[in-house]
Amino acid sequence: MKHALLIVDYQYDFVSPRGNLYVPGAEKLSDYIGELISKFKSNNKLVIATKDWHPANHYSFKQWGNHCEQNKIGSTLFFDEKLADHIVLKGIDPMIESYSGFYDEKGGSNGLHEKLQSLDINELTIVGVATDICVANTVSHAVKLGYKVHLDLNGCAGFEQIITL
Ligand SMILES: [Zn+2]
Repeated sequence: MKHALLIVDYQYDFVSPRGNLYVPGAEKLSDYIGELISKFKSNNKLVIATKDWHPANHYSFKQWGNHCEQNKIGSTLFFDEKLADHIVLKGIDPMIESYSGFYDEKGGSNGLHEKLQSLDINELTIVGVATDICVANTVSHAVKLGYKVHLDLNGCAGFEQIITL
């Protein structure tokens, strides 16, 4: 069984102070996440990234404002996308929110669990944004699915400091 790095939604709109849905301090994680990527890759471990990937009319924009629209700068990863061995897209259905990398809010799969299973991965180090929303939901599902989870808060930033799992 294998251990992978899972980077949640580390995208321009969340990470850049000029992004549409900036998570305070997220850009300061860049060096740390870069170091983690190097560490995993040098140990032949995979790096998996999730991306919020919304169509232009996504209903969550009513609550959050426009962010992470498909094929726009806001949805690009805040690190070299080529470093991600696999990217999981979420929030594609215009009517369904998907906070977790694993399942949307109606229980539909984003394909992450299936991908990890196919790669024989059972252990995850999880970093990214926002700690209290997409990271928390992803961690919660990962634990329920039986993964051994390391939530590395040094690589996370959130809107709120308190997370509820
Ligand atoms: Zn979103």
